[in-house]
Amino acid sequence: MKIIRFLKDNHEKTGLLEDDHIIELSCSAIEAINSKAINKLKKNVNYKVEDVKVIPPVLPSKIVCVGLNYRDHAAELNMELPEEPIIFMKPPTSVSGHLDNVIYPASSNQVDFEGELGIVLSKEAKNVKSEDAADYIGGYAALNDVTARDLQRKDGQWTRAKSFDTFCPIGPCIETDLDPMNQNISLKLNGEFKQKSNTKNMIFNIYELVEFISNIMTLKPGDVIATGTPPGVGPMNIGDTVEVEIEEIGILKNFIKKS
Ligand code: MG
Repeated sequence: MKIIRFLKDNHEKTGLLEDDHIIELSCSAIEAINSKAINKLKKNVNYKVEDVKVIPPVLPSKIVCVGLNYRDHAAELNMELPEEPIIFMKPPTSVSGHLDNVIYPASSNQVDFEGELGIVLSKEAKNVKSEDAADYIGGYAALNDVTARDLQRKDGQWTRAKSFDTFCPIGPCIETDLDPMNQNISLKLNGEFKQKSNTKNMIFNIYELVEFISNIMTLKPGDVIATGTPPGVGPMNIGDTVEVEIEEIGILKNFIKKS
C-alpha cells in the first residue's frame, strides 16, 4: 500500500494513495505503515490527488545517507568497491516534498541531483542483524540527495554540501510492499533520462545497511536511510525540473529555483 501525507484546507492529513485518489486515514503515517488492519483506519473521505498539496510522507529525526553504493556507479568512477559503507547525514530541515522547490544556494555554482531509494524505519532499531532488518522497515520512498558538489570538494567533509534547506526531497508516498532488491530506479532532468539502474546493483543491500547503521546509532521510527545513487550524477540549473522514479513507488518531482 501507498501511504501519503497531504494538506487540505491547511490541515495535515494521512491517506492511502490509490491511483488518482486518496482515502483519508485516522492515524499518523508511522501508525499506518505499522498497521495490520488498515481498513479499520479508513475514514469515509476521498480526495483527488490534484485537489490536495502533497507533503513529505515522513518527518525523520535524521537522514542517514550512504556514499558510493552501486557497482555500476563505482565502475563509472573507476573506483574499487568499498569494504564498508561510507555514511554521512542530512539534517531533518533539508526535507522537502513532491512538487516542492529545491532552492539553489547563492554560495554554490554546482548543485547535483542524486536519485536514490529511501528506506523508512517503522520502529526503533538498535544493533539489528541483517536477517531481522525487514521487521524494522516500514516502507520505501524515492529521494533526491541534492548536493552542492563544489562545496563538497572545497570543504573536504560533506555537511555543508548536503545540508541546505530543501536538499532532501522525499516522496511522493511510502510504499510498504515492494522488493527492495529489484526495483528499477531512474532520474530525468527536464524530461531526459540521466540515471537508469536497478537496486540489485547495490554494493551493500538494504538489510546490510540497516545492520551497519543501527550498530552505530539508534534509528527512530520515521528515520530515513538514503541508499546511494546509481551512475549518471550531474548538475541542475535554476529553472530545471527533476524527477526520480522508482518502479513501484512512483515519481518524485521537484523544481530548481533561485534563492
Ligand atoms: Mg547520495
